[in-house]
Amino acid sequence: MSKSSSIYFHIPFCKRLCGYCDFPKTMSLARKNEVLDKMGQELVGRVAELGGTVLKTIYFGGGTPTVCTPEELGLLLAVARENFDTSQVVEITVEANPDDLSEEYLRGLKGVGVNRLSIGIQSFRDDDLQMMNRRHDAEGAVRAVEAARKAGFDNISIDLIYGLPNATLEDWKENVRRAISLGVEHISAYCLTIEENTLFGKRGVEVADEQLVEQEYDAMCELLREAGYEHYEISNFALPGRRSRHNGAYWRGTPYLGIGPGAHSYDGTGRRSWNVSTVGAYLSGAQAECEELSQTELYEEFVMVRLRTCEGVDVDALEEKFGPRRREQFLHRAERFVSEGVLMRGGSSVAFSERGWLVSDAVIGEFFE
Ligand code: SF4
Repeated sequence: MSKSSSIYFHIPFCKRLCGYCDFPKTMSLARKNEVLDKMGQELVGRVAELGGTVLKTIYFGGGTPTVCTPEELGLLLAVARENFDTSQVVEITVEANPDDLSEEYLRGLKGVGVNRLSIGIQSFRDDDLQMMNRRHDAEGAVRAVEAARKAGFDNISIDLIYGLPNATLEDWKENVRRAISLGVEHISAYCLTIEENTLFGKRGVEVADEQLVEQEYDAMCELLREAGYEHYEISNFALPGRRSRHNGAYWRGTPYLGIGPGAHSYDGTGRRSWNVSTVGAYLSGAQAECEELSQTELYEEFVMVRLRTCEGVDVDALEEKFGPRRREQFLHRAERFVSEGVLMRGGSSVAFSERGWLVSDAVIGEFFE
């Protein structure tokens, strides 16, 4: 059976800089058309890299893909359709800014084949949104989801951020309740992290204290569980049958082509590559960089990515890929965390408990060489 595969388009443009963001992007839209043309050419030039695979998902991320018109995104999809067999593509996602989502715009997206939205709402509170320097307000966030429903989208994900300074536990719970009341199929919830090179980093903004972050995490898990969402990955919750197919493919290590400035690609066997991230360098044809992962790096990645999912590490699959010594080593290191209740064992699987995910960074580090 052929392996499945994915395409990721990175649209590196944003109209405003969010305080916490360290993704590759630019605020100047002056060269947008050139970049989109170049991305189409890049895709055509790299068709062979997905040879022998079955394309299953396409994802537009950024940056802000919705600074492009539906027609512009549709042109990239047309290039994909002309050059790949897209008959088995089940999911085409666009990351969207609420401010860009008029009903007409959304109908346009539907019209070019987009069937899933990932809306960057982050919070339903105006205070939080202003603090993060987001473009939209709380009302705009709700309006965007409602407009998406009217336009016929039945697979909507929203992003939320917790651990914000100046927000109380009750504020956060209210955010989660608002998300639930909108009936969105999928919620990605990230704890605020602050990188030095971001606006927040430069302004010395700090994440809420650890105890509040834990309370927010617990409250979110409980509210979403009660509302029927599966906590299927450390930062992701979905109603039954609505997990992100695209992210699932990343986590299973399937091949994907990353197109556009700063986009990463993986060939499914250990070769990773990434395009230059600045628009100027991308347009001038600068070569992508690449690396071949060693067996140790592949093993570490296998463990890390799977431990972030609710299925955890299947030790039989681990042994099949990396041999009995690695299986033993993994189980030996997992023992302590199983006895502490941070990891759980069931059949051939070792997975984090929901509370265990809170300390996952430190625990996963223990499995590395
Ligand atoms: S969070 Fe998204 S919209 Fe905000 S600056 Fe980063 S990429 Fe742009």
